[in-house]
Amino acid sequence: MQRVVVTGAYGRMGREVLRAVWGADDKRLVGAVDAWGDGTDIGHLIGSGETGITIKNDLVSVLKETRPDVMVDFTGPGAVFENAKTCLRQGVRPVVGTTGLSAGEINEIIGISKAAGIGGLIAPNFAIGAILMMKFAREAARFLPHVEIIELHHDQKQDAPSGTAIKTAELIAGVRGDFRQGLASEIEKIPGARGGEFDGGMRIHSVRLPGLVAHQEVIFGGLGQILTIRHDSISRESFMPGVLLAIGKVINLERVVYGLENLLFEDF
Ligand code: NAP
Repeated sequence: MQRVVVTGAYGRMGREVLRAVWGADDKRLVGAVDAWGDGTDIGHLIGSGETGITIKNDLVSVLKETRPDVMVDFTGPGAVFENAKTCLRQGVRPVVGTTGLSAGEINEIIGISKAAGIGGLIAPNFAIGAILMMKFAREAARFLPHVEIIELHHDQKQDAPSGTAIKTAELIAGVRGDFRQGLASEIEKIPGARGGEFDGGMRIHSVRLPGLVAHQEVIFGGLGQILTIRHDSISRESFMPGVLLAIGKVINLERVVYGLENLLFEDF
C-alpha cells in the first residue's frame, strides 16, 4: 500500500489524480496540497462523500505529518522545481507531471536524487499512447529526417511548447545527428510564423484553444510522401493509468528518471 500526497490537488489534473488514487486498491491517499482551496475536503472535488482529507497549503508540514512514500505534483512551472527539491529533502519520491522545468532544473533534481538514493519520475506525458507516438516518431526520423511538430492544448496552459513536444524533439534530434532541414534563412512576415526552432531547422508549433485537451502531430516529409503520427488525449483520464503505474514503480528506483518510457520499455 503506497502512501501518496498530491500537490496541485485543487487544479484540473490534481483532482483527476485524487480521484484515481482514492479509487486504487493498492494506494492510500494521505494528503493534498494546493495554493487554493485550503480546508476543502477532497470529497467535494472528486464527487465522493467526506473523506477526512483536506487541502492544505504548506507542503513541508503535510509531508512531515503524513510521511508519504510518493508525492505526485501537477502544479505549475513556478512551483514544481521547489516542490520536487522539498520532497527529495524529506526523503519522499517525486512523481512529477508538471511541465515547464528547464533542462538544467531536471538535471539538478536528478543529481539530488542520485546523491540521496531516492527514486522518482519526471514525465512530460503520462498517456501511454503519447509515449508510443514519441517512440514511433524517433523510429520514423531515422528514415524521414525532415520533420515538424505541432502540439495543440487547451488555452489555460502556461508553458509553450509543451513538455511532450520538447521531449519528442530531443528524441528525434538524438537520431538525426547534425542533420539540417529547410532554408538557411527565411522571411517571416509575421514574427513566429514558422514556430520555434528546436534544432537543425526542426520547428515546433504551439496551438492554444478552448475545447482542446492535449494533442500532438509529428509530420515527416520525404520525396513524394508525408507521414503523420498523431496522438490525442481527449480527457484527463488518459493520464491516470500512467500516473498509477509510476507511483508503483518509483518505489524500486534509486534516482529520478525523465520520461515514463523508462518505466515501460527496456530498449526505448
Ligand atoms: P491547473 O488547473 O492550473 O492546476 C495547478 C494547480 O496547482 C493550481 O490550483 C495551482 O494554483 C496549484 N499550485 C501552483 N503552485 C502551487 C504551489 N506552490 N503549491 C501548491 N499548489 C500550487 O493546471 P493543470 O491543467 O492541472 O496542469 C498542471 C500541470 O500539469 C501543468 O504543468 C500541465 O502542463 C501539466 N500536465 C501534465 C500532463 C502529463 O501527462 N505530464 C498532463 C496534463 C497536464 P495557482 O492557480 O495559484 O497557480
